[in-house]
Amino acid sequence: MSADCLFCKIANKEIPAEIVYEDDLVISFRDINPQAPTHVLTVPKKHVTTPNDAEVEDQSLLGHMMLTGTKLAAELGIDESGYRLIMNCNKEGGQTVFHIHLHLMGGRQLTVLG
Ligand code: AMP
Ligand code: ZN
Repeated sequence: MSADCLFCKIANKEIPAEIVYEDDLVISFRDINPQAPTHVLTVPKKHVTTPNDAEVEDQSLLGHMMLTGTKLAAELGIDESGYRLIMNCNKEGGQTVFHIHLHLMGGRQLTVLG
């Protein structure tokens, strides 16, 4: 838990979110400003500020985030049509919340990155 971190507060249920999945390691919830018909964020319960701050000890956690994203894609019915899993880093990567999160986006034809 990092003080004043939005996603730590969501993980601790101090701020409400539309949760679609939760286990001991991660919580997944709908993005408040969806950029696609399906837009879900998967967040580790451990605070990691940016992808740059992930360490070797976080390797399985990062893998678990990816597999949570693919599992949710299937549950939400976009695995066959296709989807995107994205993690942004720092300013030029478009990161605005400084607690790492994996975007799952789909439900429409996505355009090129960048
Ligand atoms: P990023 O730009 O990669 O840091 O993504 C941050 C995402 O968090 C954006 O897509 C926001 O719409 C989303 N977001 C910000 N506040 C909330 C919130 N309270 N609940 C759900 N999603 C949020
Ligand atoms: Zn945090």
